[in-house]
Amino acid sequence: MRSHYCGELNLSHDGQEVTLCGWVHRRRDHGGVIFLDMRDREGITQVVIDPDTEEAFALADKARSEYVLKITGFVRPRPEGTTNANMSTGEIEMLAKHVEVLNEAQTPPFQIEGYTDVGEDVRLKSRVIDLRRPEMQEKMILRSKVTSAVRAFMDARGFLDVETPVLTRATPEGARDYLVPSRTHEGKFFALPQSPQLFKQMLMVSGFDRYYQIVKCFRDEDLRADRQPEFTQIDIETSFMDEAQIMGTTEELVRHVFSKTKGVEFGEFPHMTYADAMNRYGSDKPDLRIPLELVDVADLMASVEFKVFKGPAEDPKGRVAALKVTGGAQLSRKQIDDYTKFVSIYGAKGLAWIKVNELENGANGLQSPIIKFLGDDVAMQIMERLGAENGDIVFFGADREKVVNEALGALRCKIGADLNLYTKEWAPLWIVDFPMFEETDDGKLTALHHPFTAPSCSPEELENNPVTALSRAYDMVINGYEVGGGSVRIHRQEMQQTVFRLLSIGEEEQREKFGFLLDALQYGAPPHGGLAFGLDRLVMLLCGTDNIRDVIAFPKTQSAACLLTQAPGEVDGNQLRDLNIRIRRDPASATSH
Ligand code: ASP
Repeated sequence: MRSHYCGELNLSHDGQEVTLCGWVHRRRDHGGVIFLDMRDREGITQVVIDPDTEEAFALADKARSEYVLKITGFVRPRPEGTTNANMSTGEIEMLAKHVEVLNEAQTPPFQIEGYTDVGEDVRLKSRVIDLRRPEMQEKMILRSKVTSAVRAFMDARGFLDVETPVLTRATPEGARDYLVPSRTHEGKFFALPQSPQLFKQMLMVSGFDRYYQIVKCFRDEDLRADRQPEFTQIDIETSFMDEAQIMGTTEELVRHVFSKTKGVEFGEFPHMTYADAMNRYGSDKPDLRIPLELVDVADLMASVEFKVFKGPAEDPKGRVAALKVTGGAQLSRKQIDDYTKFVSIYGAKGLAWIKVNELENGANGLQSPIIKFLGDDVAMQIMERLGAENGDIVFFGADREKVVNEALGALRCKIGADLNLYTKEWAPLWIVDFPMFEETDDGKLTALHHPFTAPSCSPEELENNPVTALSRAYDMVINGYEVGGGSVRIHRQEMQQTVFRLLSIGEEEQREKFGFLLDALQYGAPPHGGLAFGLDRLVMLLCGTDNIRDVIAFPKTQSAACLLTQAPGEVDGNQLRDLNIRIRRDPASATSH
């Protein structure tokens, strides 16, 4: 029907007859002439309808916002003084000859033009309308450009796109599974994949060598701002490549995507060890746009009598760290109170601080409720270690290491954002040398990445020192977001069984859950490894938003529901009977018989 998209027209079309199809974005009557802003996904063109063209004028006069029209006319330059430099079509307009109303529309639930301040719930419920907003269309178009850049890059390097099943067995990635009851196997369930991890490894054993897939994954976990229960991974696996090669290729992919879609050129990504990241930034996904760093001061605090500091300073699982904020002495009491509340979310019991007012006066030039507990000497030694200067503020964390890292790590990012301390627009890096395992409070080991990650040592060494063993895993971090993660995998059965054993997965459970993998490893599994990127997060970063729902056409809410379709929904009794499922409406009475 159309000859051009609305957003496509410019002076090069001057004098041409064109046909546009789209929606009425705005209508204005100007002294007997009607102006319609016609919109489609590519942009907006101003259409002028003159009363001389009687039929067209009568139809345009009836048209309201969001009517769907087909308009034929001539492109002409806008009269002098009426051009709009903010629009790609701002130098031209169309003089309509013929208007056809393809469909009428009711008044939309919220305005499509410009900024909308309606709540997100309203937007999600009326997603069809919300997606019409030029801002949302731009995001979806960018997302499509990203996936096509990924495919072009992977195809050019010989990666094969292979699909893996959605109805499958559980793949442990550390979240809860979404389950699907089987009708044909009474009492049995499929799990939706948390990732295609085991299938992509088996594809390597089958010899496919370089695999990728842009694939949906499902994790039933508590949602945060940057998570969704179903999300998309760019999933990659290779054989005969070591970690340096895998990181090299995937880093090149990200560079290609940023360059193609945003014109952003990255240099080589720095590498940082996990230990270093935790020490300096309190996080394994540090936002390196922010120049603040955590500094250990436990050795100085061990000598003070103040229990709040002395206790954690002497505890091998404790940490006492300081965070110097340049220019932070201007923070008000209220702001400091707000930061104290903020760190309490991470379990910190308080937030001690020292303002540096006049360092030339020694400890007398410091302002703080805690100096009297620290003593002047220790306070001044801390200032020296931090290189503090007049006008700075120093915050302290003293607790279990995990609490200090999480609290000060998050505070660092919050202050960085609040005071706009960013020193650059983009800060990509790799985190390497992760520990193999994490110790839970009850002394059990869990896999830090997933149980198929290869350790950097032999099975014997791993068994002897599991807690200190490092893995061959790597994460890619950009601006404080983990955008991708992967590892070299275990490709020998013996090592895989050692890891299962250390994770307290007994022989029987190993066979039951992972027998197919253990068998595959016996038939000539090549050395292999890979990585998965979170596509949604990557697109989110490229769009400059921190709301993951804005880059997914039909996302779920934070309580994992779809407001548009009202999913999840109830199902009919017959369907449940077919599946041999009975709903326990009242859990208390259901357990009593
Ligand atoms: N399967 C991993 C994940 O989803 C990524 C990988 O190891 O390739 O996090």
